[in-house]
Amino acid sequence: MEIEVVEGDITAQQVDVVVNAANRAMRGGGGVDGAIHRAGGPAVLDDCRRRFPEGLATGDAGWTTAGEMPAQWVIHVVGPNHRAGETDRAQLTSCYRRALEVADELGARSIAFPLVSAGVYGWPREDAVDAAIETLRSTPTSVELARIVAFGRASYDLVAQRL
Ligand code: ADP
Repeated sequence: MEIEVVEGDITAQQVDVVVNAANRAMRGGGGVDGAIHRAGGPAVLDDCRRRFPEGLATGDAGWTTAGEMPAQWVIHVVGPNHRAGETDRAQLTSCYRRALEVADELGARSIAFPLVSAGVYGWPREDAVDAAIETLRSTPTSVELARIVAFGRASYDLVAQRL
């Protein structure tokens, strides 16, 4: 699988799947989550309610429609909330691995990831980048392209350097 980085807004990516850094309730939130629900429209939340009545566990992934976004699906993952004391790195790498597993179930060929847990959830940025790259490189998958979407120049430079 090819891994690349772009700077930009994940909601605008022309890929099969965009990944959402969601929370356990899966009913929307701030950051990437807010942007995805705004861009996708109400179909995304409807699908979250229908498909995930109990939400999702930390480290897990599940798909919904992407609504009005160019992508076909959203794969929602729940990163650990480092700020709240969830510091188990295996839960962060699990988000990337589970997202690729769900993407394979969907037959997706291209997927765009934000830096899960690196925003409000406060995971140290360099380690969030390394966890993403390591896991994308080591997970067997039929997905052909994984694009890390960096929000801002500083994140872009960091990911590009680590790649
Ligand atoms: P978390 O709660 O998992 O930390 P956040 O959404 O707060 O999730 O942040 C995750 C990362 O996504 C941060 O690096 C943040 O800067 C970035 N981000 C925020 N909005 C967007 C967006 N529209 N597209 C891509 N990345 C974004």
